[in-house]
Amino acid sequence: MPNLSFVSPTRNSPWGTYLSQIDAVEPYLGKLSRWVETLRRPKRALIVDIPIELDNGTVAHFEGYRVQHSLTRGPGKGGVRYHPDVTLEEVMALSAWMTIKNAAVNLPYGGAKGGIRVDPSLLSMKELEKVTRRYTSEIGIIIGPNQDIPAPDVNTNGKIMAWMMDTYSMNTGATATGVVTGKPIELGGSLGRVAATGRGVFVVGREAMRRLNIDMEGARIAVQGFGNVGSIAAKLFAANGAKVVAVQDHTGTIMNSDGFDMADLLDHVAKTRGVAGFKGGDMIANEDFWDVKSDVLIPAALEGQITAERAKRITTRLVLEGANGPTTPDGEAVLADRGIVVVPDVIANAGGVTVSYFEWVQDFSSFFWTEDEINLRLDKIMVGSFKHIWETGEQHKIPLRTAAFTVACTRVLQAREERGLYP
Ligand code: GLU
Repeated sequence: MPNLSFVSPTRNSPWGTYLSQIDAVEPYLGKLSRWVETLRRPKRALIVDIPIELDNGTVAHFEGYRVQHSLTRGPGKGGVRYHPDVTLEEVMALSAWMTIKNAAVNLPYGGAKGGIRVDPSLLSMKELEKVTRRYTSEIGIIIGPNQDIPAPDVNTNGKIMAWMMDTYSMNTGATATGVVTGKPIELGGSLGRVAATGRGVFVVGREAMRRLNIDMEGARIAVQGFGNVGSIAAKLFAANGAKVVAVQDHTGTIMNSDGFDMADLLDHVAKTRGVAGFKGGDMIANEDFWDVKSDVLIPAALEGQITAERAKRITTRLVLEGANGPTTPDGEAVLADRGIVVVPDVIANAGGVTVSYFEWVQDFSSFFWTEDEINLRLDKIMVGSFKHIWETGEQHKIPLRTAAFTVACTRVLQAREERGLYP
């Protein structure tokens, strides 16, 4: 494992996982492998201190990050997450996965990610606003509509993007809608952005199922994570004839082998903020989620969920990665041995950043598209990118993740070579 002095990844930690994915793609890069070390080093990483005065009058400090893994193909692009376990190492991996993702669907961006080590559920709305505004000011030296464009990720949303946009605009003296995506519609947000990641997961899943001869009608779907990604993907699968048989979120795990009534479940979650206590299914122990038999398993929560131990218990045909980095290298090896196909995060969840790109383009041109236009263009990009990756996999007889990395890394390193080294 190449050594960067500021992180100590382990084999299955996020940055360790990413590095092993780069090792796997290296043999397929031909002459471009001369540049591969570029991908093992983030271009730039910023650590910031975020002091705020809490409602009770004391001062609290939070640690924030913005990592720009690559700016080779365009400005940095990627979300910002608020979570008590966020670390520099994790944000580095997430930023690198954005580089790969943006290139895999051919968006004119590099890759970046940000995060704050904070539990937002413990903050009041005022405190959340202060944290967001101070963080935005601190990373203001490296973000901008042409430099690096943040967006929502775990525990962040349109409201937070509005504060980020406002803070950046106040600091620069001009309203800059294009500095973040995932904004409310009133501030230059795009129709379809909120649902885009989940929609993309569904579209790519549908394409993979067709190629694997998995019938959508009656297909059993298990979903881990019922936030913006998992809930929307589950809803779309159910609307297209599949049945959602298990859902796990931060409140617990429910299952129903006949499939949930999705309208009832979504209603319950909207009212109680979690799946726990839902009457249309049985509560099971969280760890038993991995024993539920499914045709498609969608991890749509955090990294490192499919470990080797869990991979041995999983009975499914297709893993569709809605989350970033949910499968560890050891877990992936077990799934491969067992013939379970994995559609990797860098294509499966690329729908979100694709509509972020549409939002950014609409902001620059000050001309806004209809939701139908957005969904149609999203569908076209996802279907086309997945087809290219699938065919690359067949051509080299490699797993879809290595195929997606081959397509993406070739694009990044080709650009790297053409730009040349400075000075
Ligand atoms: N956070 C999302 C992701 O992981 C979206 C990023 C974006 O829209 O820039 O892909």
